[in-house]
Parts: sequence; C-alpha cells; structure tokens
Amino acid sequence: MPTTPLQRLLFAQGGDCFFCRKKLGKAEASVEHLVALTHGGRDNDENCVACCKSLNSLFGRMSLKEKLQIVLNQRGNFMCPASAAATSASSTAPSSKPCAKKSRTHAERFGLVLADLQKRGNAKPGTVEKLLNTIKSHMTSLGEPESEADTLLGELRAQNFVGVEGEKVSYSLPDRGAT
Ligand SMILES: [Zn+2]
Repeated sequence: MPTTPLQRLLFAQGGDCFFCRKKLGKAEASVEHLVALTHGGRDNDENCVACCKSLNSLFGRMSLKEKLQIVLNQRGNFMCPASAAATSASSTAPSSKPCAKKSRTHAERFGLVLADLQKRGNAKPGTVEKLLNTIKSHMTSLGEPESEADTLLGELRAQNFVGVEGEKVSYSLPDRGAT
C-alpha cells in the first residue's frame, strides 16, 4: 500500500512521469505542485503530480499558464528536460554552445528569443530594424538560420508580446515568474 504522496501519485500514474510518460525511477521522481504553493496551490493529490525532477526544477515558480504553454509548445511529443538532453547525444551542458547537428524546434527558438528579450530589461531594441537584427544575431550565435528572424518577429507580434507602430517597437513580455 503506497504511503507517501510521491508513492501514491506514482502508483496512480502507473509508475510513469505525468508529463513525458517515461518510467520514473525513485531517483528522478519528484512531486510537482501544478499550482505552486506560493501561488496559493494546495498541498494535496488534486494539485500534485509525480514527474521528472528536471521538469519540476524548470517549472520553478511559473504560473500554471506558463507551464501549460511549455507543455503545449512541444506539440505532443513531450520530453522532460533531462530526457531531451539525453537524446540529443553527447553534450549534457544545455545551451553553452550551439549544437549544429540537431536543429531546434520552432517553439524552442521562439522560447529562446523571448527569454533573450526578457533578459534585456530596459535595453531592448527600440525599432523594428534593430529588433530584427537582434533576433538575427541571436539565431546566428545559436547556429540557426537568420531567415527565422522574420517568422519569429511575426509570432511575437501575433502573440502581442511585441507591438509595432511605424518603425517603433513596444514590448509586453510575459512575467518570468521572478518575484
Ligand atoms: Zn518526465
């Protein structure tokens, strides 16, 4: 009879990670609060799932909405960060240098560009041209084609993260969850 919350959740999930559905060993298993305790989530089985530690730490204090976005961005073939790193062969250090062999998915590029803009704080590019150049050089440094820049900018605008008026650019980026 399972006793700890983690054991209960694992049992209910057939021993698999809730998100990537891989067999979850004890060493990798962790309890993820879907609505974080710091956001008022409850510490009970209704709000908890067992999942890979790597994903749990990526989720951190994100809102449920941001977590859903990460899951949905994988377009159905969800992999927790640890298994995603393992399948991309040799390098285990994430994003330290561009990996030319395995090209990133579009969603990953979009996430990287978004994160890059968020990092810039008040030093974000102020015109469309500068923003495009920023995205292009970011793509180049990642070993990705520059031609992605236009598509990514279009997507940033479509999601209302970036507003364009004439040549001027305004930003309304999602909160990174840092409080
Ligand atoms: Zn997993």
